[in-house]
Amino acid sequence: MSKKVLITGGTGYIASHTCVALIEQGVTPILVDDLSNSSKLVLSRIQELTGVLPVFYQGSILDKVLLAKIFAEHPEIEAVMHFAGLKAVGESVEKPLAYYQCNVAGTLNLVEAMQAAGVKQLIFSSSATVYGDPASVPIEESFPTSATNPYGWSKWMVERCLMDFQAAQPDWSITLLRYFNPVGNHPSGRLGEDPQGIPNNLVPYIAQVAIGRREQLSVFGSDYNTPDGTGVRDYIHVVDLAQGHLAALTYASPKAGCHIYNLGTGQGYSVLEMIQAFEKASGRAVPYVLAPRRPGDIAECWATPEKAKRELHWQATRTLDEMARDTWTWQENNPMGYEPQ
Ligand code: NAD
Ligand code: UDP
Repeated sequence: MSKKVLITGGTGYIASHTCVALIEQGVTPILVDDLSNSSKLVLSRIQELTGVLPVFYQGSILDKVLLAKIFAEHPEIEAVMHFAGLKAVGESVEKPLAYYQCNVAGTLNLVEAMQAAGVKQLIFSSSATVYGDPASVPIEESFPTSATNPYGWSKWMVERCLMDFQAAQPDWSITLLRYFNPVGNHPSGRLGEDPQGIPNNLVPYIAQVAIGRREQLSVFGSDYNTPDGTGVRDYIHVVDLAQGHLAALTYASPKAGCHIYNLGTGQGYSVLEMIQAFEKASGRAVPYVLAPRRPGDIAECWATPEKAKRELHWQATRTLDEMARDTWTWQENNPMGYEPQ
């Protein structure tokens, strides 16, 4: 029988790509999502790509009864990949309680439900945001952690809770995956990132400018101490990130302990370089204006991915051009994102 893994936030952007990667390797994902930031259509798209329609529970990780029911109905679940959460930095400043409730309390519910069910392997979606404003780049896992907004603190707190919990329960395996900047889409153009309202992140914003949904991009800051003055980030193709989860499930999850990995490429690109890559991939102009720095932004952020390479036998292989190409394929095929349900 194939390995079963519970995927919280399963219809979301990164989780949906991870589900495809898992199914392709014979793992059976079971999804739970409250659809607060995703579409049910994702399920049929996963089926289209893999031939498998995953089992899906619509509901919240804040619902303890639902979590108990899922584990009771699937006693073979061996591990949990925990993607569910709220992720908009600006919104987290306005609604901190909602962020702590969903991200922190939701994770505690999940861990309690796992404990009651005897499931002891957890892979958590953390973020490079826990490094705050790093003293230097590239960033190693051993760097001090901090945060600059409630979203970042919620990730920081969950990491803290999980580390303390694992220390008290040494037979558990907890893997904290610190993602850098996930971008791109499944190359088929059938799965993608579908932000609601005005995109907060660079790449979906560029894609919407290129398709004509928005007039121009504001480049936040052109006076940073970087080669062209704009912010530099470690963009990682979401399919590489999905493969990273599979590697964590294979190599880290079976080992008791608390495991921490950066998932990035180790290569930084500037905002202007991303615009150029996108213009090349789409054949369209991406008009932009140079605007003031966005509060809370840092100049540079990129990873040392060596630990993941060494221990998870994983590394990102997809290039900036592939990230831009696949984002464009998705945008062209789904100009308004997933259709409303
Ligand atoms: P996403 O919004 O596409 O996916 C999150 C999913 O969780 C959504 O489908 C949403 O409906 C669901 N969800 C939210 N609250 C829920 C709840 N209470 N119960 C059940 N489902 C709930 O976001 P994503 O970009 O795929 O991010 C996935 C995870 O990775 C998040 O935890 C995010 O913080 C983390 N992360 C994302 C990035 C990024 O840039 N995208 C970077 C670092 C970390
Ligand atoms: N950025 C920008 N214009 C936008 C959105 C983002 O210039 O409309 C810049 C931002 O200042 C940062 C980079 O793009 O240097 C990546 O930002 P994003 O929000 O995608 O990710 P972050 O690294 O902030 O999590």
